[in-house]
Amino acid sequence: MQTIRGFRDILPEQIPLWQRVEKEASYLFESFGYSEIRIPVLEKTALFARSIGETTDIVEKEMYTFEDRKGDKLTLRPEATASICRSYIQHKLYATDPVRKFYLTGPMFRRERPQKGRYRQFYQIDAEVFGVESAYIDSELIFLLNELFKRLGLTGLSAHVNSLGCPECRPGFQKALLDFLGERKEALCENCQRRIKKNPLRILDCKVETCKQALEGAPATVDHLCSACDDHFAIVCASLEKQGVKFHVDKTLVRGLDYYTRTAWEIQTTALGAQSAVAGGGRYDRLVEELGGPPTPAIGFAIGFDRLVEVMEQLEIQVQPREMDLYILPLGDAALEKAYHWSCELNRQGIRTETDFRGKSMKALMKRANKLNAPFVLIVGENELAENQVILRNMETKEQISLDIDTLIPELTKRLK
Ligand code: AMP
Repeated sequence: MQTIRGFRDILPEQIPLWQRVEKEASYLFESFGYSEIRIPVLEKTALFARSIGETTDIVEKEMYTFEDRKGDKLTLRPEATASICRSYIQHKLYATDPVRKFYLTGPMFRRERPQKGRYRQFYQIDAEVFGVESAYIDSELIFLLNELFKRLGLTGLSAHVNSLGCPECRPGFQKALLDFLGERKEALCENCQRRIKKNPLRILDCKVETCKQALEGAPATVDHLCSACDDHFAIVCASLEKQGVKFHVDKTLVRGLDYYTRTAWEIQTTALGAQSAVAGGGRYDRLVEELGGPPTPAIGFAIGFDRLVEVMEQLEIQVQPREMDLYILPLGDAALEKAYHWSCELNRQGIRTETDFRGKSMKALMKRANKLNAPFVLIVGENELAENQVILRNMETKEQISLDIDTLIPELTKRLK
């Protein structure tokens, strides 16, 4: 049996980097007042169709959708924002506090063509803020991403920032875009020809080469902003600059989801070939209302966890190997029993202790102790046991001392804690 195409196992050898990122992210987010939220991976299909948009690539081509036994249409979540909004509305989370900030880590599912940095089950770290219209929160989120990546030791990333405007400025931009597309219609792919009527903004996000060429020189949202959006974006840029966050305004950045308004951004890397986006985010001031909640400004981002770890691997960012205080090396049946009880007791006392029940030789167990990086080894041999003694060996200095069994646990606790 093998994993399904585009799905993969994250093996224990890879986990230290994942845990490092998780720890750093939750510490940083919580210090900025974000709380963790956990939500289902399965939702009603309508949630994603309505929020992400019927004419987006995700909804048109990439969702894992099926009918359950009762005929309900369900989808494995392709992203987290829609589900977090659903939860925010369902539990009236706005009623307890006008400002809610969440973060979430978990798997997402998109049936894309698998390649390096692109999987069908992948992981995201999300952060979302509800109830704040101010441009400073946009900056804070971009700052958070920048800070997290800095703390993780990442280099070579660039932040691309744009403003997509609001329903006020959209019609003006849409008209300019349609005028521009006028004679270029024929060059567009079939999908985009359909999108002209349904959702012309999505054409800007098309990955088909001929469409990309046809769009060279197309009008940009940022040049068609209303004055409120213009002011908002100016604050985002100025406040990022003041915090020393490096970014550049990328007029071509539109992001692949319909719900975005105003600020949108992506953090890109050159390390992963075609899959350059490590994180992306944006404001979605209309979405909560569209999904049946009260009008609520909102904004968030998603980090591609798999890609982030791949960049860290490329940069050879090392994480401390797993830590152990003591390895008990039992020789013979009587020693095995002692090793079991001592290991339980020492762990209870907070000494990270491991042992080996396979009944192997001293040589084999020493080899394993070295491989596991044990700083101390407790050698429990038959002769020593007969004398009520065990040997504690410091693996670094190779120094060995005898310890009395009657006072072993308090003695080891004192020495190793
Ligand atoms: P999006 O939800 O499309 O804005 O994506 C946010 C981030 O998730 C991207 O910047 C990627 O780093 C990551 N991502 C999106 N799709 C995939 C995928 N199929 N495989 C791995 N990472 C992905």
